[in-house]
Amino acid sequence: MYVETQKLEQKMTPEEVSFVEKYDLLGCIQCGKCTGGCPVTTRSDLNIRRFVYDCLQDHLEELSKKPEIWDCTTCNTCAIRCPKGLDPFEVLLGLRSFEVEEGNVQPTVRDALESIFNNGNPWGKPRAKRCDWMQDIEGVEKVKIANPGEKVDVLVHICCTACYDPRIIPLAKNLVRVLEKAGVDYGFIGEAESDCGSEVRRLGEEGLFEMLVEDNTELFGSYDFDRLVCISPHCYNTFKNEYSDLITKPVMHYSQLVAELIEDKKLVPSGELEGKVVYHDPCYLGKKNNVFDEPRYILGQIPGLELLEFRRSRERSLCCEGGGGKMWVESESKQERLAEVRMSDAKQMGANIVAVACPFCLLTLEDAMKVKGFEEEMRVADILELLGEIL
Ligand code: SF4
Ligand code: SF4
Repeated sequence: MYVETQKLEQKMTPEEVSFVEKYDLLGCIQCGKCTGGCPVTTRSDLNIRRFVYDCLQDHLEELSKKPEIWDCTTCNTCAIRCPKGLDPFEVLLGLRSFEVEEGNVQPTVRDALESIFNNGNPWGKPRAKRCDWMQDIEGVEKVKIANPGEKVDVLVHICCTACYDPRIIPLAKNLVRVLEKAGVDYGFIGEAESDCGSEVRRLGEEGLFEMLVEDNTELFGSYDFDRLVCISPHCYNTFKNEYSDLITKPVMHYSQLVAELIEDKKLVPSGELEGKVVYHDPCYLGKKNNVFDEPRYILGQIPGLELLEFRRSRERSLCCEGGGGKMWVESESKQERLAEVRMSDAKQMGANIVAVACPFCLLTLEDAMKVKGFEEEMRVADILELLGEIL
């Protein structure tokens, strides 16, 4: 401890003292390993070590006015590197919540949060259209919807982006094809399903997050299932780690289920794809939950693909900047985006497919590929899309 607690208590409000305790800030030894690993320092003034220190010196309301609190992607690198076991970026989420409470957020953030409250999704889409994506799936007559109380092995939570965004809908459709082909006893939730709350929490709207936790827990409690499977690593992480054990059944990312199906020979990748593929680890699957091997295993089982590795991969993977609520936060930085750096790295190593396992990674990396003008030489595809091409 480098600041005496007593001195702190003299100059801080009780709210500030509890903030310091909540994030265990007195445990920080100011070693700077967090800032040293933070990927956004190349394009932002964000200095996470400094923020941790300033929370002990300055008033939190003043700190929350600094625009760089919105630059964090919550990639988890600082938490992995912290020798004292802190989650330094959580401080920024705490500061964001002051701004949310005051209504000092970008209009895009406000609209996303309002839409989640009103419609159960951040994209301003009506709940009644949540299942529109279930039409016209190759080889599938009807997507199975689970009935409360009726037993299924796999209950699927489809991410809001996968059921409304035309670029991401193919992931949902291909997951259905995989489940049908492998003979999985599955069921989707359908119209009653709501946002998981992951980005709500990252944007600092704690009250709305708690409401979603309560509602979703009640919803899941009405179903009889063995495992909950998610398409997005963000939903997966939130249900698995942030619902305070309210979900008692195992929560899986789709890549874990598909790897299991291939291993058990229930799903046999039969067709062939040509090319050099490099896998981009989504932060919320890899750095946050140590799911590194299953996506690589699936890609390795697709005949014809040569699997390459980024120099910055697994725990050292470079963030695409799609997490941490950043899908709704405009960045002021004019520096090259991390997703563009990632695509340049992929091109340099000769990859013609960048494989992902996350809707946000797919959107950010594909956009970066277009900005860089690489469409002629390469493509970005989710593993579910690659599987869909050979089923
Ligand atoms: S890595 Fe941990 S201990 Fe070191 S400065 Fe950052 S928060 Fe403090
Ligand atoms: S979570 Fe990632 S982007 Fe945010 S402060 Fe930590 S290292 Fe930087």
